[in-house]
Amino acid sequence: MAGYRLHSAIKVCIFSILLTIIMVQNAYSFEKDTIKTSAGDLIISFIGHGTLMFKFNNLVIHVDPTTREADYSTLPKADLVLITHEHGDHLDINALEQIIDSKSQVILTEKCMENVENLDNTVVLHNGDQTEAFGIIVKAIPAYNILNKRSDGNPYHPKGQGNGYVVSFGNTNVYIAGDTENTPEMKALKNIHVAFLSMNLPYTMTPEMVADAARAFQPGILYPYHYGNTDTSELIALLKENKNIEIRIRNMK
Ligand code: ZN
Ligand code: ZN
Repeated sequence: MAGYRLHSAIKVCIFSILLTIIMVQNAYSFEKDTIKTSAGDLIISFIGHGTLMFKFNNLVIHVDPTTREADYSTLPKADLVLITHEHGDHLDINALEQIIDSKSQVILTEKCMENVENLDNTVVLHNGDQTEAFGIIVKAIPAYNILNKRSDGNPYHPKGQGNGYVVSFGNTNVYIAGDTENTPEMKALKNIHVAFLSMNLPYTMTPEMVADAARAFQPGILYPYHYGNTDTSELIALLKENKNIEIRIRNMK
């Protein structure tokens, strides 16, 4: 009987250890890429849809954190948070509350500010504005619809409200487009090493629009993101002649 109890205790113990291992793995189970920059490694975690996490030296940068995509109680606190616009798949108060502490800075739009109360250390950027936080330069690029409109005739993303961001890590420029189409402002970007371009209808771009923008500003690495059920192989086919653009598909539905 004592042997049986001991056996059971060992089983429970092994089960607990396995469960702990699975939980720890889950906390950090997102796909990751490392980009070498002049100022250290940039580690990108692909959380899902429009949501990303960057680690750069000792800094943690959350982009559009939402509880829909991750359990933020298991993720590191933010030094910097970037929010592109106020839609629920980009701005989520519950996620913010879990990752913000006294040192965190939140860069967001004016529309986002209307939705967050009692949030300290916020910096509102309008289209074209630029700021510096923790030695990192962040520039706001307009994000808006040209063609895609709601049934009432208003665009899903009206011009002047949403931001994309160009974030400079050393001399490496990372562009996170936000919810937008292939605007003239996007196509005029220069010196973009890594680009995240949104690719789902009816809200953002078709593969053709993403390819058109990429041919114009020639990012070194292109991550389609916020792509829902869009077939990413269409984008690869459209850009197959453009050998200087490396397309990387990550799990960013
Ligand atoms: Zn949106
Ligand atoms: Zn969105």
